[in-house]
Amino acid sequence: MGAEDAEPENRRADMLRDRGSWRLLFGQVRPHRKALVLGASLSLVGTFAGLAMPILAKSVIDAFGKGADLVGPLAGLSLAVLAGALIAAWGRFLLERMAEGIVLATRTSLVERILRLKVPDVDRLKPGDLLSRVSSDTTLLRAVYTEALAGSVGSVFMFLGAVVLMAIMDGLLLLVTLGVVALVALMGLAIAPRIRRASLGAQVALGEMGSVLDRALQAFRTVKASGAESREIAAVSGAATRARDRGVTAAAWTSVAGTGAWMSVQLAFIAVLGVGGARVASGAMEVSALIAFLLYLFYLVSPIGQLIQSLTQLQVAMAAIIRIQEVTALDSEPAASGGAGPARARMPVDVRFDDVVFRYGDDRPVVHDQVSFEVPAGGMTALVGPSGAGKTTVFGLIERFYEPQAGTILVGGRDIREWPLGDLRAALGYVEQDAPVLAGTFRENLVFGAPDVTEGEIAQALARTRLDDLVERLPAGLETPVGHRGVLLSGGERQRVAIARALLRRPSLLLLDEATSQLDAVNELRLREVVAEVARETTVLVIAHRLSTVTGADRIIVMEAGRVRASGTHEELVDADDLYRELAATQFLVSS
Ligand code: ADP
Ligand code: MG
Repeated sequence: MGAEDAEPENRRADMLRDRGSWRLLFGQVRPHRKALVLGASLSLVGTFAGLAMPILAKSVIDAFGKGADLVGPLAGLSLAVLAGALIAAWGRFLLERMAEGIVLATRTSLVERILRLKVPDVDRLKPGDLLSRVSSDTTLLRAVYTEALAGSVGSVFMFLGAVVLMAIMDGLLLLVTLGVVALVALMGLAIAPRIRRASLGAQVALGEMGSVLDRALQAFRTVKASGAESREIAAVSGAATRARDRGVTAAAWTSVAGTGAWMSVQLAFIAVLGVGGARVASGAMEVSALIAFLLYLFYLVSPIGQLIQSLTQLQVAMAAIIRIQEVTALDSEPAASGGAGPARARMPVDVRFDDVVFRYGDDRPVVHDQVSFEVPAGGMTALVGPSGAGKTTVFGLIERFYEPQAGTILVGGRDIREWPLGDLRAALGYVEQDAPVLAGTFRENLVFGAPDVTEGEIAQALARTRLDDLVERLPAGLETPVGHRGVLLSGGERQRVAIARALLRRPSLLLLDEATSQLDAVNELRLREVVAEVARETTVLVIAHRLSTVTGADRIIVMEAGRVRASGTHEELVDADDLYRELAATQFLVSS
C-alpha cells in the first residue's frame, strides 16, 4: 500500500504548488461576487457594531462612577449588540446561500467532466471513487466559502480594528499582547500542512471505501456464492478505518491549534493584567481603561482563533480540490458527443480498415500487422474468430472509444477522425458484448438512444425482438422497472432489450457484439430473420460466437490473434480456411 501511495502523494504535492488548486478554489467565487461582497460587508458591519461594545461599556462604567443617568448608555449598548447580531446573521445567511450555489456548480461541472471523459480513462478509474469525489469532496468545499473566506475577512478587520483601538488606548500593553499572538500564529502555520495531508488521506480512504463497496454490489451474487461477504465487509471497514485514523490525526492537530490559541488568550490576559495592574497602581492608567483594554484583548485574540479555524478548513478544502482536480485535469471528448439524436431514414454506410494498428497500453498490439478489411454498405457482414482475437476491439475502434496508433478507419467513405464525434455515434447502433440494461423502466431502456421515437416505433421494435409478449405480461407494461443492471430480466431478455434499443436508433451501421449468444434456439432463429430484414436498409456488422448465426451472412471476416486471416462466404471459407473449417466442424456445421 505504502509504496503505491508515494507516487500520487508527490503528484498531489506538485499540483498544490502549481497554483491551479487555488485558482479553482477561488475562481468559483467569481459569479457570486455580489453575494460575497454584500455578505462579507454585512458581517463586517456586525463586527464593527460588536467592536463598539467595549467603548460603550467604558462610558457606562464612567457614567456609573460619576453617578450620572445610566439609561442612555445602557440603551446604546443593547442596541449596538442587537443590531450587530442581526446584521451579522443576515450576512452569514447570504454567504451560506452562496456556498450552496458554489457546491452545486462544482458538482454539476464535475459530473459533466466525468460523463465526457474518454473511454480509456474510465476503464482505469473506479466508479465508487468517482462517486465519492462528486458527493463527499464537493461537500468539503462548503466551509471554505462560508467560514473560512467570510470568517477571515471579518476576522482580519476585527483584528486590525482592535489593534488600532488598543494602540490608541495603550501602546505598551499592545506590544505585550502582540508578542504572545505572534507565537500562536507561527504555531498555526506549522500545523496547517499536517491537517491538509491528514484530510487528503481521509478523503482518499473514503474513495477507496466507495470503490470496494461498489465492487461488492456490482457482483453481489458472486460475493454471496463465493462466501466472500466477511472478506468484503473487512475490506470496506478497513478503508473506513483508514479514513477514521486520518480523520483522528486531523482532529488532533486541529485541537492542538485550538488549544494553543486558547492558552495564548489566557497568557496574554495574565500578561496584560500584570503590566496593566502595575500601571493602574502607579496612577498611569485608569481602571476603566484597563477593563476596556482587557475586553479588546478578546476582540484581538478571538479573530486569531477564527483565522486558525479558517486555515484548517482551507486545508481540508484544498485536499478536496486536489481530488476534484485529478478528474477535471483529464482530457474530455468534444462537447457535441452524442448530442444529435439519430436522424430518420438513413442510408447504409460502408466501413473500411486501412492498415490499422492498435494497442491498449504499452504492451503488444491487440490489433496488429496493419489490419485491413472492408464491409460493404448494406447487407450483413460477420466477424468471427476465437475469443481474444480482437473482435470487440474492432467495434471499440469504429465507435472511436479508442484511437488507433496507425492506419485509418473509414465509415461511409470518410475518415472517422473527420466525422464530428456526435454525428459518427448517431449513425451507429451498438449492442455491447454484455448487453447492459440500465436501471429504470422498460421504456426508458428502449428510448435511451432515441428519446423521440413514437409509440408505433416502440411497438414495432418490441415485436421484432419478440419482447411484446413479455411486456404484455408485466404488471405495469412498459413502465415496469427492470432493476439495476436489468437484474429482473433473464440474459436473453436483456440482450433483446439491448437490440431493440439499438434498432430504435435507426442506425446506418448496426454493430452487434455476440448479441444473440444467450437466446434460445427459437428466439435466435427469429432474430436472425429480423437482422436479415434490417440488413436490407442498414449495414449490419455482427460478431458471433455461434457460427450458425452467420452462415447466411453476405460476407464473413475471420480474425485470429489481432489479424484478419481470411474473408468470404461460409462456403468459400469452409473450402479455403483451416481455422474456419475447424470452428465450423466443432459446431457441427460441417463434418470434419
Ligand atoms: P474478442 O472480442 O475477439 O474476444 P477483445 O477485442 O475483447 O477480443 O480483446 C482482444 C485482446 O485485448 C484480449 O487479449 C484482451 O485481453 C485485450 N483487451 C480487451 N479490452 C482491453 C482493455 N480495455 N484494456 C486492455 N486490454 C484489453
Ligand atoms: Mg469480444
